[in-house]
Amino acid sequence: MKQYDYIMVGSGIAGLYTALRAKEHGSVLVITKGSIDDCNTKYAQGGIAAAVGKNDSTDLHFRDTTAAGDDLCDKEVVHILVNEAPARITDLVNFGVPFDTLDGEIALTTEAAHSVPRILHAGGDATGEHIEVTLSKQVYSSKIRVLEDCLATEIMVERGIVKGIKALDYRTGSTEEFSCRFLVLATGGAGQLFKFNTNSDVVTGDGIALAFNAGAEIVDMEFFQFHPTALRLPGVTPFLITEAVRGEGGVLRNVNGYRFMPDYVPEADLAPRDVVARSILYEMKKTGSDKVFIDATHLPPFITTTRFPHIYRFCLDHGLDITRDLIPVAPAAHYMIGGIKTDSWGETNIAGLFAVGETACTGVHGANRLASNSLIEALVFSKRMIEKTKKKAKRRAPTASQGTETRHRLSPRQMPKAIPALSLSTLQQLLWDKVGIIRNKETLTEAADFLAAWQKSLAQSTDRPTYELNNLVLTGRLVTEAALLREESRGAHFRSDFPRSSPQWQRHIVFTAK
Ligand SMILES: Cc1cc2nc3c(=O)[nH]c(=O)nc-3n(C[C@H](O)[C@H](O)[C@H](O)COP(=O)(O)OP(=O)(O)OC[C@H]3O[C@@H](n4cnc5c(N)ncnc54)[C@H](O)[C@@H]3O)c2cc1C
Repeated sequence: MKQYDYIMVGSGIAGLYTALRAKEHGSVLVITKGSIDDCNTKYAQGGIAAAVGKNDSTDLHFRDTTAAGDDLCDKEVVHILVNEAPARITDLVNFGVPFDTLDGEIALTTEAAHSVPRILHAGGDATGEHIEVTLSKQVYSSKIRVLEDCLATEIMVERGIVKGIKALDYRTGSTEEFSCRFLVLATGGAGQLFKFNTNSDVVTGDGIALAFNAGAEIVDMEFFQFHPTALRLPGVTPFLITEAVRGEGGVLRNVNGYRFMPDYVPEADLAPRDVVARSILYEMKKTGSDKVFIDATHLPPFITTTRFPHIYRFCLDHGLDITRDLIPVAPAAHYMIGGIKTDSWGETNIAGLFAVGETACTGVHGANRLASNSLIEALVFSKRMIEKTKKKAKRRAPTASQGTETRHRLSPRQMPKAIPALSLSTLQQLLWDKVGIIRNKETLTEAADFLAAWQKSLAQSTDRPTYELNNLVLTGRLVTEAALLREESRGAHFRSDFPRSSPQWQRHIVFTAK
């Protein structure tokens, strides 16, 4: 069995940045499911948040982050995020990420719920692509070993300590075991749970399933962020239209051309994502349409084409000139706020097992992520994770986030009378219809029963599609069961039968298998 000091599973921002830092301290292997740049990171458009602007401060960044998190952020961890963010931006600059500048200064834009311009961007709306390409070049030139087309299938744990990982090379069908001192899950989120989503095909909740099955704690899964504005064109996969378009002055209109957001909230088009997503749903229902529009036609065309070259080109390829045409949009699943529970050093409750990036739940986002806080979260806690492994510090259990926790197992459920055959599309439709932007006890119970029945009948995973589907069923169950337990509305979790937040729910829902 091959032995490494560090194994990273995943090659998005979290996996690659961690690998680059880890190589200063030992041998490193990166295992990744597709090619190195198959990930969500490369799709990030808006940018990356850090208090580096003249009118900004870490206090303001802290305030905006905790306000978005709706009284569920771990404040100690948010302090760490906002204070360490500027240094991590410097790391990216040193690696060669070409952030956009204006008059010789870093250019900053604003997004929903940020009180000042705070978002750094690169290539206009191609921030994620620039970060991914820069980091992967650095990884290749550092001679870090990267195994592509390799699917992590099982974490090896002995007496509570991580020993390594089993992985399937799905081109050859062969399984190999790799041992390590530190295993880092950087597997991203689970957007493929939902019919309409903005995520890469590789984002199927694998890290959640791997960690849960190994005995790790999974927390806050009911909080799934739906982006309000993904392109809605027949036959075209939802393509994100970044909030920055509204940050630059774009406005939402319904199918009758009416600008509706000011009717819902004073912040109008720049209200938090959950508020805008729900307002759009209500407006779609009211007008009997499957979409609304972003109107950016009043912006000077050079702003649109230079700030949003990707979006401009993508829309043009689909017959829309967004300097003149309205952009049809609707909400889509976007970001997994919950995840594998870690402390502020990226450590889980299993010795030697770490989680970073979207698959981790550090407590930074609380009940709702502030736009552009995820790329920076991945960097801040990846760096800390490596610091921790250097220290040989005494292990301590991850701290409970603000408020308390309730702990749960997945229990058997009532068998439904008829169960639709399980496939990726039936699962995605079920989650979209029953566990989506607006949920209630009835829809959640129905989904929970189907998911439990599907899980009971799952065949042994043998190849990439069956592993992914089985992981999605388990992750979907965790999202649904947590959403059923949380009898209130908070942040990204909205229950039509409990439309208000309740102080008694200022706590976290944790699931474990063991
Ligand atoms: C369209 C879009 C726009 C966004 N815009 C922004 C933005 O402007 N600012 C911001 O801060 N955030 C943004 N986000 C969110 C942000 O991009 C992600 O949260 C972040 O990139 C996640 O990075 P990651 O490294 O954790 O995961 P990812 O980049 O998703 O990488 C996950 C990696 O894990 C691998 N993997 C998964 N399962 C396995 C397995 N079983 N075995 C081996 N490998 C596996 C995948 O192949 C992939 O390499 C956006 C997200 C999307 C989808």
